Amino acid sequence: MTCEGPSPRLPPIPLESRAAMDLLEYQGKQLLARHGLAVSDGKAVATVEDAVRAANEIGYPVVVKAQVLIGGRGKAGGVKLAADEAQAREHAQNILGLDIRGHIVRTLWIEHASDIASEYYASVLLDRQASQPLVIFSVEGGVEIEQVAKESPEKLVRRNVDALEGLSRAEAVEIATDAGADADVVQGVADALTALYEVWTQEDATLVEINPLIITPEREVRALDAKISLDGNALYRHPENQSLSDSENEDPIERRAKEQGVQYVKLDGDIGVLGNGAGLVMSTLDVVARAGGSPANFLDAGGGSDAEKIKQAVQLILANDAVKAVLFNIFGGITRCDEVARGLIAAFEEITPAVPFVVRLDGTNDVEGRRLLQEAALPNVYAARTMNEAAEKVVALAAAQSVGTPG
Ligand code: GDP
Ligand code: MN
Repeated sequence: MTCEGPSPRLPPIPLESRAAMDLLEYQGKQLLARHGLAVSDGKAVATVEDAVRAANEIGYPVVVKAQVLIGGRGKAGGVKLAADEAQAREHAQNILGLDIRGHIVRTLWIEHASDIASEYYASVLLDRQASQPLVIFSVEGGVEIEQVAKESPEKLVRRNVDALEGLSRAEAVEIATDAGADADVVQGVADALTALYEVWTQEDATLVEINPLIITPEREVRALDAKISLDGNALYRHPENQSLSDSENEDPIERRAKEQGVQYVKLDGDIGVLGNGAGLVMSTLDVVARAGGSPANFLDAGGGSDAEKIKQAVQLILANDAVKAVLFNIFGGITRCDEVARGLIAAFEEITPAVPFVVRLDGTNDVEGRRLLQEAALPNVYAARTMNEAAEKVVALAAAQSVGTPG
């Protein structure tokens, strides 16, 4: 039996730190509008009747949009155009309560529908490798940007910005030109990029992503969608943004965990971490970070985890679709490793994770636990003996799954 024990230095992510605060589309648009970016007029509502009333006020055609903290709403049936009151009612009925990959729609945003000539993409984020802000822009918007990165990387312009100098007018114009924006909208796009950069810096955002940034037939540049994350630790500097963090917009996975009595904290990375006991989970975060990885969450399955609890924990971790690989770190004491193994096997009978799992079982009944896992031969599950070995394996697996976009 090996026990590495917790690392002597403090974990890289203190638990008191606040998670990134993701904004709903309409909240993001309100922030964008404050910084001069054009958005459509609209209204947030929570009932079908209010949706219809809002649509009538705004004037048809309108677009009825699910407000959930997850992308790809259009494909999931969460974004619909309505030409008249009957259609607005029908779409509101269908979209309210809709489950979009685990996110239940409780709020709709109704806005006046835009005519679209072109769909562009623009984002500002932190390039951790370069330790600089990064502006990404493409004239191939509306589709998933990972797809553009893969299929036509030349259509994607990435430009690091000197954080002290900020984004200059000349740079913004150059980005738009290099990406092949229509000549008559280059100035408008440069204005938009400048506004996005301003939101990113002045609002302490960690991500500002607009997809699509549209060009209307009148050649206006407008944000049709908004994905903005604010730095929770900088919130004290923005009292006007604090109301955005109320429980309605709490991370839905954190809320679910709370309901299930599981300790779960969402972090910004892509490696799901599950362990038993807060100390073990904290040192697991540390070891993952030291191996070059970035944890996606803190999840303590607690002592004496039975099969049902393990299943719930696995489902919670997989509900975060940023997760590219999972490290399952169990040190058996009261918790018996064979029970954990059974829980994992039961979980995999009901859900087929698309991401790899690395499982380290050590301590009480670990031999039996590993034997059970081996016998079950779960696809995409790798066993590890030590924490370091497990961390290195999971970091490599996550990197292999990554499509190469930063952030
Ligand atoms: P997402 O699927 O979660 O990214 O939601 P979006 O807000 O980006 O909407 C998805 C797609 O719906 C967009 O890429 C547009 O093609 C379309 N869409 C959204 N709003 C409008 C609109 O006002 N007019 C038109 N014509 N299409 C829209
Ligand atoms: Mn979008």
